[in-house]
Amino acid sequence: MEHAEIVIIGAGWSGLTAASCLAAAGREVVVLEKSRGPGGRSATRREGDWRFDHGAQYFTARDPGFAEQARQWQADGLVAGWHPRLKQFGPRPAISGQSPDVRLVARPGMNAVLHALSLQLDCRWGWRAESLSWQSGWTIRADDGRKLSADALVITAPPEQSAALLGAEDSMTAALSEVKMAPCWALMLGYDKPLSLAFDAAFVNQGPLSWIARNGSKSGRSGESWVVHAGPEYSSRQLEQPAEQVAAELLDAFVGLTGTEQIRPAFSRLHRWRYALASDPLEVGCLHDAGRRLVLAGDWCAGNRIEGAWLSGRAAADRLLARGVDQTS
Ligand SMILES: Cc1cc2nc3c(=O)[nH]c(=O)nc-3n(C[C@H](O)[C@H](O)[C@H](O)COP(=O)(O)OP(=O)(O)OC[C@H]3O[C@@H](n4cnc5c(N)ncnc54)[C@H](O)[C@@H]3O)c2cc1C
Repeated sequence: MEHAEIVIIGAGWSGLTAASCLAAAGREVVVLEKSRGPGGRSATRREGDWRFDHGAQYFTARDPGFAEQARQWQADGLVAGWHPRLKQFGPRPAISGQSPDVRLVARPGMNAVLHALSLQLDCRWGWRAESLSWQSGWTIRADDGRKLSADALVITAPPEQSAALLGAEDSMTAALSEVKMAPCWALMLGYDKPLSLAFDAAFVNQGPLSWIARNGSKSGRSGESWVVHAGPEYSSRQLEQPAEQVAAELLDAFVGLTGTEQIRPAFSRLHRWRYALASDPLEVGCLHDAGRRLVLAGDWCAGNRIEGAWLSGRAAADRLLARGVDQTS
């Protein structure tokens, strides 16, 4: 069976950040990702001339270390500022946070930084970890029978999926079950001609939607492409409804807000994020079982969002490096 010093499950921001830090420290790391490429919830879909960031829309950098890293990505041309003409529909909720000074986007798609990181790493695409076992080391089994052993394991799947991998009896599963992820239905709309609107993005506090954005207004994108996000309440209520019905309802809501009754989209695709954002994220950096050399990481461990995922990936790497992957507790 193939052996790796450290296996990381997941090629999103937290997994690839942890992998890059560990590889930079000279560790032998293998990243396993069930999808065909990097991104996770910071995904970009390409369809003809249209690009859609149908998960994460932009990110902010408040932590000094992350801000420094973001400046480096900007200097490398991987990240740019985004200054959309913003609008608000419906009353602003009382608990909404302060507007960030700078919104940043990866270019030409929100997965671009992760794509660049993955090129420096040993990533295995289409590798879905299905079961794990631990006996002085880890064995990771894929859904197609492949196997890999490792001294240390980092899992960055959303909490419910991480819990399913570890099993109900695992000592870390109780902590995972406390973190609930809210879903999000996302609709991608491509138009042949620009919509004549006086805004590029809007926070929506009425009806089923929470956010709409003209993806083409971000740096490095072309084509008239819009991303429409439903709010957590609607998404939870309609989670198991047929896609055609949800797509029609979200398109109706978008048309109502934008007054584009006469213009049909040339392309339309719906995506269901079953685990979009933690409703009650932890602020622990990561969860660590030193005895089994196991780390659980993800945005949900560090306050949500891309910045949280990056911080959690760093925390995961720090734990393994501080401890040494070859030591038992
Ligand atoms: C609709 C939506 C809008 C958002 N908007 C924003 C925003 O505007 N700004 C912002 O900062 N953040 C936003 N976020 C949150 C942001 O996308 C996440 O915080 C960040 O992408 C999380 O990264 P992660 O690495 O922790 O997790 P993920 O991106 O979920 O990565 C986990 C990876 O693990 C893989 N995986 C899972 N199970 C297995 C398995 N068994 N085997 C192999 N691989 C597996 C998954 O395929 C995935 O690639 C949004 C998210 C969504 C869904």
